[in-house]
Amino acid sequence: VKDQSEVNNPSPQVKKDALIKKEWITAFELQYALDKKQFTLFYQPKLSLTTGKIVGVEALIRWKHPKRGLISPGEFIPITEESGLIIPIGEWTLREACRQNKAWQEEGHPPMLMSVNLSVRQLHQPGFVPIVQQILNETELDPSYLELEITESMLMDHEKSIPVLRDLKNLGVQISLDDFGTGYSSLHYLKNIPIDRLKIDQSFVRNCSIDTNDATIVKTIIAMAHQLNLEVIAEGVEIKEHLLFLQRHVCDEAQGYLFSKPLPPEELICILKDVEQV
Ligand code: C2E
Ligand code: CA
Ligand code: CA
Ligand code: CA
Repeated sequence: VKDQSEVNNPSPQVKKDALIKKEWITAFELQYALDKKQFTLFYQPKLSLTTGKIVGVEALIRWKHPKRGLISPGEFIPITEESGLIIPIGEWTLREACRQNKAWQEEGHPPMLMSVNLSVRQLHQPGFVPIVQQILNETELDPSYLELEITESMLMDHEKSIPVLRDLKNLGVQISLDDFGTGYSSLHYLKNIPIDRLKIDQSFVRNCSIDTNDATIVKTIIAMAHQLNLEVIAEGVEIKEHLLFLQRHVCDEAQGYLFSKPLPPEELICILKDVEQV
């Protein structure tokens, strides 16, 4: 957790790092990258802890830079959010993820859930729900196979967010609350927002098998989710001990390097035989 004074008053090193990053990735370059189709999606499997089978994948964007190689989203998503480019890039991501999921189904793989990360600017963009509807129509993906991942910070403006989430639910898509426990958590909203799943943030999972506080937090989130009739998934599952802990506390699903890192589509299909038949 960052000291508030550090956030408001960044150290010279932090300022310098931010400057360097801003200097070499500009909104102009990102627009060019979008036009030149340099973005690509990797897919990380999510496993059921009861069956051990793949129940879905999370789409994670990468930038295939012709000179700098693969660039991770942490390096450029903040710049797309600031510049507004997250709107067209997010729309591309959603369309590509839906298209890919439908293509896997048509190739005969058992259907599974495709999760796509949303930014607050997308959720609050006028006409976002019709765009999602249009993408579903275009790609002919059954809405029940699409999940949108939102974060707690998107609920800060809950009067704006909740109606959009309700409209999305009415399309038949699923909604998951990502990075749960790290943001603006109000249990009051948790009771009122139309979500299907909580995703326990990896910062709690990382030490759940060795730190009693993190263990308590993870156990409590699982129990609370179940009491609220929500499914619960743990992210950042890296070692066997995490898995054993989560199984002992009946977490529903897990995602992490222990099972697989995010993979390009051609590598992911090699493990799709493990998809759970429903
Ligand atoms: P996130 O949504 O919390 O995604 C999980 C991140 O954890 C991913 O990083 C994933 O590669 C990484 N991860 C998965 N398993 C493990 C593990 O076992 N250990 C550890 N230490 N990390 C693991 P990635 O792909 O670099 O994405 C970072 C963040 O960028 C994402 O965090 C998400 O907030 C954002 N992001 C990625 N793709 C998109 C996108 O298409 N749209 C938007 N708006 N944001 C995106
Ligand atoms: Ca996510
Ligand atoms: Ca997350
Ligand atoms: Ca995260």
